[in-house]
Amino acid sequence: MFWAVAISALAMSAIVALRYWASSGFFAWVTERRMPGRYGALKPQIRREMGWSLVSALVYGVPAGIVAWGWEERGWTRIYEDIGAYPLWYLPVSLVIYLFLHDTWFYWTHRAMHDPRLFRRMHAVHHASRPPTAWAAMSFHPSEALTGAIVIPVLVFLVPIHIAVLGLVLAIMTLMGVTNHMGWEMFPRRLVHSRLGGWLITASHHQRHHEHYLCNYGLYFRFWDRLCGTDKGLSDKLTEQTG
Ligand SMILES: [Zn+2]
Ligand SMILES: [Zn+2]
Repeated sequence: MFWAVAISALAMSAIVALRYWASSGFFAWVTERRMPGRYGALKPQIRREMGWSLVSALVYGVPAGIVAWGWEERGWTRIYEDIGAYPLWYLPVSLVIYLFLHDTWFYWTHRAMHDPRLFRRMHAVHHASRPPTAWAAMSFHPSEALTGAIVIPVLVFLVPIHIAVLGLVLAIMTLMGVTNHMGWEMFPRRLVHSRLGGWLITASHHQRHHEHYLCNYGLYFRFWDRLCGTDKGLSDKLTEQTG
């Protein structure tokens, strides 16, 4: 049993590493095409971002691999495959619940890690990216990676979710993690500056966190930042899409 769990964890680490490589590599390539040379001077930093991210992939794979094994072999978790097991309206609702709970966990742990006592030990690695690049998506110290790695594996025991919606949650997590760090805004100005945009976090919002540190702590939504008075608006240094 030990080896089955260990192999599941290692396989999951490999999947997370490949996912990182493919998604960050893709957006780094898009960035190079849009703004040639933008990452040119950041090569040593990018190498460090890759190194930390691959260690993070290893950390992320462990809880995910254990839970995946338990789901397959022991019927753990509340992940369901039969689409009719819950009403159809529950599919989008469960998506929002997962994103909101993940965002809540991220906001408060992230904010705690900006306390000087924790910052140096846990979070300085992530902020060593100045400015961050698409490769910084998982550039965390292992202790910080662990706080991120346990969220979804814990939530699947608490909140029922269809396997496809879980895939969507992971896809959104990956997409936003990469694009929020890549140094330019991919969403149209019309959306970013709309009323809806005022509640969503994209690159323009997270870039400001990397510029000013003690603000804009959220992950997907600006709800907690706005409620707690830590929302300092959008960075004005990013290139934006027109339209
Ligand atoms: Zn960041
Ligand atoms: Zn931070």
